[in-house]
Amino acid sequence: MDIKKKLESKNLRLTKCRVRVMECLNQAEKPKDVAEILAGVNRKEPNFDQATVYRTLDTLVEVNLVKQVDFREGKYRYEIEHEHHHHLVCTKCGRVQPIHEACLSIDERKILSKYKFRVSDHHLEFFGLCDKCLS
Ligand SMILES: [Zn+2]
Ligand SMILES: [Zn+2]
Repeated sequence: MDIKKKLESKNLRLTKCRVRVMECLNQAEKPKDVAEILAGVNRKEPNFDQATVYRTLDTLVEVNLVKQVDFREGKYRYEIEHEHHHHLVCTKCGRVQPIHEACLSIDERKILSKYKFRVSDHHLEFFGLCDKCLS
């Protein structure tokens, strides 16, 4: 993924913090929380404080480069969505698996015609037990 092109496509300036946050999330196997992002971003100089990283994340979420996900941990996690997907979250061990199955039978165009509501995004996570915790 060309991070600089991605940022430019949203008319965002290439600040070091934005590039680092994108790099950090791009390498992640699962959505990261702010503490993990902060640690990833600050592996090299210059370092950024938490407020700056929060602000950067807000900006990236706003322009849909980064997606915020809620696994009911009392905090958000963040990821770059290369392909639309949802997550299976194990409530016992915390394992997270992405699923790429067609997510909804609801057609968002129908929502627009029926409710005059234009959907820009949706969040859907599944909570339960993973195969290890089941056996
Ligand atoms: Zn589990
Ligand atoms: Zn979906």
